[in-house]
Amino acid sequence: MTRFAPSPTGVLHIGGARSALFNYLFAKKHGGKFILRIEDTDKERSKKEFEDDIVEGLSWLGLEWDERYRQSERTDVYKKYLKKLVDEGKAYVSKEEVKKEGEREEVIRFRNPGGTVTFDDLIRGEISFDTAELKDFIIAKSLEEPLYHLAVVVDDHESGITHVIRGEDHISNTPRQILLLEAIGAKRPAYAHIPLILAPDRSKLSKRHGAVALTEFKKEGYLPEAMVNYLALLGWNPGGEEELFPMERLVGLFDLGKAQKGGAVFNIEKLKWFNREYLKEGGEGKIKEALEAQGVRATLPLVAALRERINTTHDIARLLEGEFSFVREKPACKKEKLVWKETSASDAAKHLEAIAEKIGSMKKFDAAALTESVMPYAEEHGRGAVLWPFRFALTGKDKSPDPFTVAAIIGKDEALARLGDAVQTLNA
Ligand code: GLU
Repeated sequence: MTRFAPSPTGVLHIGGARSALFNYLFAKKHGGKFILRIEDTDKERSKKEFEDDIVEGLSWLGLEWDERYRQSERTDVYKKYLKKLVDEGKAYVSKEEVKKEGEREEVIRFRNPGGTVTFDDLIRGEISFDTAELKDFIIAKSLEEPLYHLAVVVDDHESGITHVIRGEDHISNTPRQILLLEAIGAKRPAYAHIPLILAPDRSKLSKRHGAVALTEFKKEGYLPEAMVNYLALLGWNPGGEEELFPMERLVGLFDLGKAQKGGAVFNIEKLKWFNREYLKEGGEGKIKEALEAQGVRATLPLVAALRERINTTHDIARLLEGEFSFVREKPACKKEKLVWKETSASDAAKHLEAIAEKIGSMKKFDAAALTESVMPYAEEHGRGAVLWPFRFALTGKDKSPDPFTVAAIIGKDEALARLGDAVQTLNA
């Protein structure tokens, strides 16, 4: 039984998403359950919109939970435990000066028995803490207002959590939680603290390094399959050279014993690579969808050409505005732009007419056939002199794919029409 226990005080970051994934994989691997627990005891900072963002992100990744609850709905449960601790003398109410001078408020402090707490972290090995320095820490503001440590411990106990898998920034919280577990007579779960995600410069990954919010990646057009695969390998590796593991395989292979201790460096180029790989496999449908959303007919050569050039389907809109604008727009070519370097307008017109003649008699019309038909002529008369006006006549752009790819995308009739227009311009 595992849980992902985010506080809805901010959007879901990739670090949190990875913790959720590790918990999910571990539970599925062992036929256990995965709980989503919203830790909203901090009423001021917890927001519904953040909870929605977390839920949206996990659903997008396909991390289905077996159970979901909010701590704010469980005040009575915590109260019962708090009362018991106070009744047994394991915690006490203390009137203390807080914030404004002179104002006194009651809090509930845990009577810390002190001593050394040792636990065997599944990733980091044995960890010991001298708990005396934690003093009698505060566990609730009142019986109705438990704080983080108390709520975590009660919930882990009541939900029968057997494995607590979370970021290593929680290591320092563990001794307090163990002391509380012992005080309420709960069984200690196994702990696995996973390494932090670092920026390429090995500093803590943050917004200044680019997107860190999971839904940001969704908006940028990354595929959830790619994200899952990439996140799984951030701090864990099944060994071997292979890297492409869809979810079912991750579930089969997942093993906390193979998680690394050191920080995991986030590498956006690697994520893009995963995304390209997943786009190759069954990404065609996604590219078609993206094209149709742009009002463009998704022909086979267009899909194939785009697939070679995009990291995410999000790049499609950008390409259609840029290098692939020829798909939607007929070019308006200026005469001088159609002419290659030292050659003349009549040379260009002559070459375009020769190409049009070849194209006109072609049966099979794809980039390979076009290359085969036009290339010998280009070699003979100069590549630049022939291919520049050819490409420019079709696209009207300084930058675009090669003319064979372009012609195959726009099709024979359109290619002939554009060549005709260009010849007219050149002869004018
Ligand atoms: N609610 C804590 C957080 O968002 C996580 C608690 C836990 O995993 O034990 O950081």
